[in-house]
Amino acid sequence: MTQACLVCQQTYEPEPGFYYGAMYINSGFSTALLLAIAFLLYYLADDPPLWVYIGAVAGAVLVLTPWLFRYSRALMLYGFGGARFDPRYALR
Ligand SMILES: [Zn+2]
Repeated sequence: MTQACLVCQQTYEPEPGFYYGAMYINSGFSTALLLAIAFLLYYLADDPPLWVYIGAVAGAVLVLTPWLFRYSRALMLYGFGGARFDPRYALR
């Protein structure tokens, strides 16, 4: 990861250890994913055996980890790092 954005020079790490908080955001995402999959399996698949729940959640977390990780860091940067949207740098 670079120190700052190559386009707008936004600092990606405002202080050392800044992204430890992103772990908690990622944990929230994972919990929400777990609950959503559990409810879907329970009601749509008529309460399958436990290994189906574990396999579905583990598979979804493995597949979605790259996105969850990046969104957690981005939310941390927006929420606590002072990053703000600047329309001058919007993609067109
Ligand atoms: Zn930027």
